[in-house]
Amino acid sequence: MSRGGTVLPASTGTSTTGGQAPEGAASTTRRGALRWAAAVGGGALGVGTSLGAGSAQAAGALHPRPEQVSDPQQALELLRAGNARFAAHPQQHHGTTRARREALAEGQHPFAAVLSCADSRVPPELVFDQDLGDLFTVRTAGQVIAAPVLGSVQYGVEHLHTPLVVVLGHERCGAVKATLEAIASGAGPSGTAVDSLIEAIRPPALAAIEALGAGAPAEALLAEAVRRNVLAQVAALAADPVLAHAQAGGHLRVVGATYDLHEGTVTFL
Ligand SMILES: [Zn+2]
Repeated sequence: MSRGGTVLPASTGTSTTGGQAPEGAASTTRRGALRWAAAVGGGALGVGTSLGAGSAQAAGALHPRPEQVSDPQQALELLRAGNARFAAHPQQHHGTTRARREALAEGQHPFAAVLSCADSRVPPELVFDQDLGDLFTVRTAGQVIAAPVLGSVQYGVEHLHTPLVVVLGHERCGAVKATLEAIASGAGPSGTAVDSLIEAIRPPALAAIEALGAGAPAEALLAEAVRRNVLAQVAALAADPVLAHAQAGGHLRVVGATYDLHEGTVTFL
């Protein structure tokens, strides 16, 4: 999960707060639900020491944020603002700083988990104009969800306390296009692991074909399949028991979004 084979540090919020969660009792309740993480090896994921609330106030960041963001709406607004910066001034994307990097070395408080396509044109940190430590990012082609992907998102929510999960699809997604083409051609499995991507995207792709009709323009069909793929993934995540628990407690929102390759804009669905 990080370079050199080391595990990523996780903030526990305990080193300077004596176990009192910065966001109060609600988080203590959430910690009860965290036993799964400990049981399945939270230590193996590299539970590190916390920076403590506010101690690493986005050190050196050009767009500082509260060290710990627990409100889903606030997290969403941070992403909206970041994407607006990127779309309007992509050349001004800031580099990070040594101070920021060093401040984060002992712990992290990302304010959003982003499950996005692996497409090279859609890196979440760039399109949302965020810095080191801001986003807990999971990427697969077509942002397809498999067990390790779900586990990663669960980890971000339950252990790092990210208040927002974004499923980020994008215009002209190659994985979705390949799925539509496989359906149209009736081609069988290739025998490669790519088949798993196509099988995962097949249901929303079929739904798009049914909605628009097989004779619909390819571009429109692809856009509709991209949108339905994102919505299906949002539904799958929202229904996951671990994420559903966090949502029920008001600690989490799961939202879908699509990215426009030309404009650089993210549209939340
Ligand atoms: Zn894609």
